[in-house]
Amino acid sequence: MKRTILVIEDNEQNLYLATFLLEQSGFTVVAARSEPEGITAAARFQPDLILLDIQLPQMDGYAVARELRQNPALRDVPVVAVTSYAMVGDRERTLEAGCNGYIEKPINPDTFRTEIDNYLKVRPVGGEAQS
Ligand code: MN
Repeated sequence: MKRTILVIEDNEQNLYLATFLLEQSGFTVVAARSEPEGITAAARFQPDLILLDIQLPQMDGYAVARELRQNPALRDVPVVAVTSYAMVGDRERTLEAGCNGYIEKPINPDTFRTEIDNYLKVRPVGGEAQS
């Protein structure tokens, strides 16, 4: 069974690149371009991982992460912040908000797959066969 990754991203170019790289790696991608859409899609699709842009137009990504973490069904789903903020302290903010870690923008196509795989391994083994 293909693994599904939810990408919450309002920037079309970033969304295109992430989608392209993930589909190339064999993942199914669900895209959400706004915060409410992302929260709804997470509950509906129960993705294997959520990539969350921190700079979003309505709420910020931190608020989205906190909201995702309030859904018990998503408790074990890795949430990875995607942020261009290079400031010290932002990593802590993403962790405090419930993210498992972060990937820096711009996405590096050479390391992206490895980073995603590392976060997928964080997930407790649930008996699903690796593909
Ligand atoms: Mn953005």
